[in-house]
Amino acid sequence: MNTGLPARKINPLALPKGTEKFCELCESVARLQCAACEVTFYCDAEHQRADWVGIHKRICQLLVPLRDPDQLCSDNLEFNLKKVELIEICRSEAQNKLSQGTPHEALPAAHSCLRCSIDVHGSGSYELAPAYLLLAEANMGLGNVTLVKQLLSQTEWVVSNSPDCPNEIHHRLHRSLGRVHVLTGDLEAALYNFANDIYYAAEAFGLESTVVSDGYFLIAGVFVKQGKLPVARSLYSAAAESWHSHLTELHRTNIHNPHFSYDKSQQLEADKMFQTMLEFEQKESSKDSTQEALLNHCLAIIWFLGVDVQKAAGFGSAALQASQLIPNQDLAESIRGLLQLVQNPQADPRPGSD
Ligand SMILES: [Zn+2]
Ligand SMILES: [Zn+2]
Repeated sequence: MNTGLPARKINPLALPKGTEKFCELCESVARLQCAACEVTFYCDAEHQRADWVGIHKRICQLLVPLRDPDQLCSDNLEFNLKKVELIEICRSEAQNKLSQGTPHEALPAAHSCLRCSIDVHGSGSYELAPAYLLLAEANMGLGNVTLVKQLLSQTEWVVSNSPDCPNEIHHRLHRSLGRVHVLTGDLEAALYNFANDIYYAAEAFGLESTVVSDGYFLIAGVFVKQGKLPVARSLYSAAAESWHSHLTELHRTNIHNPHFSYDKSQQLEADKMFQTMLEFEQKESSKDSTQEALLNHCLAIIWFLGVDVQKAAGFGSAALQASQLIPNQDLAESIRGLLQLVQNPQADPRPGSD
């Protein structure tokens, strides 16, 4: 069988007596080993393939000095530094796969991240929380709700044992808990967790940050499900306002930077969020033109920064139309500037401004 992977059958005679090797992914008894590093083992070719695609091809050679008894670093500090580097590679790889919408492929990297984190920090440290949260997020994407709940309660455990756990981790934990409670329909628990999420996000990133705005957006979604539309509406408008000032600032500072483009996966996520708020606004009997103008302007900016002029022009026109119904002339002016830029990318919309 040729899988294109560096695979080799384990020779049991080559192993010291009484030692058995276990699969990197599922921890059942291994029959194969990676022929490139010789320190990683698998139950079957399918698990080797999944691990190879998910993370192993990036870390195969990095594992040798950490696992091969003949090459083990003698220096403890150097050994730990290498592991910390490995944790970071696995963390960012898992995060990338999640952003790309392939939670299945994020699992091996998240598993490796957890394994290395336990090696370095021990099993009770809050430093394991990022790895648990990545695993939880990947499983949330795959619909494994029971497993997500287990992973989150493990996270709660390590977090509650660590008085010095940073606010950012509390925020991420509560956000994941909120999202899983939305999935299972426990809206009261979702509200409680999103409220905590917002509190810790504000402590970690500041009240004006888009992380907090995303919290407003999420909690508003729960109020919509409960039919509490006025609360939802005011939270959506707080989220839209804060995102709007973030995006206009981002646009302003990158206006002369031809190489700047909005990160694709972030762009899709933001697009989905603005569209949800826009749909909500359009269902309301008394439409708020300011909100419509802000949201369409946000959409126009992210598509302009994401280099899709056609979409930017469409949302820009809708924004301009809505802005003509409100007294805020600065907003209309700023939308006109963007539309000019969309129609003629060479023109500087703010003559004499710099
Ligand atoms: Zn396996
Ligand atoms: Zn390998």
